[in-house]
Amino acid sequence: NERPRPLVAGNWKMNGLRASSEVLSEIMAGYGAGLRNRADLLVCPPATLVAALAGAAKGAVGVGGQDCHAKASGAHTGDISAEMLADAGASHVIVGHSERRADHGETDAVVRAKAEAARRAGLVAIVCVGETQAQREAGETLTVVASQLRGSIPAGAMAADLVVAYEPVWAIGTGLTPTAADVAEVHALIRTELGTLVGEAEAGRVRVLYGGSVKPSNAAELMAVANVDGALVGGASLVAADFLGIARVY
Ligand code: PEP
Repeated sequence: NERPRPLVAGNWKMNGLRASSEVLSEIMAGYGAGLRNRADLLVCPPATLVAALAGAAKGAVGVGGQDCHAKASGAHTGDISAEMLADAGASHVIVGHSERRADHGETDAVVRAKAEAARRAGLVAIVCVGETQAQREAGETLTVVASQLRGSIPAGAMAADLVVAYEPVWAIGTGLTPTAADVAEVHALIRTELGTLVGEAEAGRVRVLYGGSVKPSNAAELMAVANVDGALVGGASLVAADFLGIARVY
């Protein structure tokens, strides 16, 4: 089985003003032909910057949103639809990030509706799953992740419209990471579950990212794990040299 082409995606979270387009310029400057042949890069800035960065990136680096509403338009003050992100030049949208699940009470059903909206709008949905520290300590990691996948992945999803990101909640922004063996165990489970959900052949093509305190210093080990097809990077994606340092493990 051929491995999917790696994707290194940056989640800027609620960080970035117009001056932050400098970070994208630096990323583009460092994204030379060699690296371009080996991995795709994606930057997910706050929604206010999607249009500007997509314009500047000219498709060389992908630009994505961090969330979308399930509906295309309507009376939902403050929300942004997948269609709006696509119109602004986005190619991807993160859905079900643990910060959205925790801060906004997003359930698996809500996340699935958002992933369906992404597909409707022609965007790739990056569906995030991952256990809390308490769930890991209780030995529930695999059952939690399996149930999140079953609840969050749309029926009929294809590798062309779906990326899965395994992000243990306790590893996000903490500097803590699971062992390579732990990552391997969860990513193998994700591949198996995807086989049931979207079919074996399609499941083999879906990119499954690891996220949670990925840095240049630990990226090589984490990205070498079986069934890890790239990274979803938070903090380190705000610094072009660090983001590129992670991508250069490919
Ligand atoms: C994230 O929020 O998706 C993430 C992985 O954050 P960090 O890299 O900062 O842990």
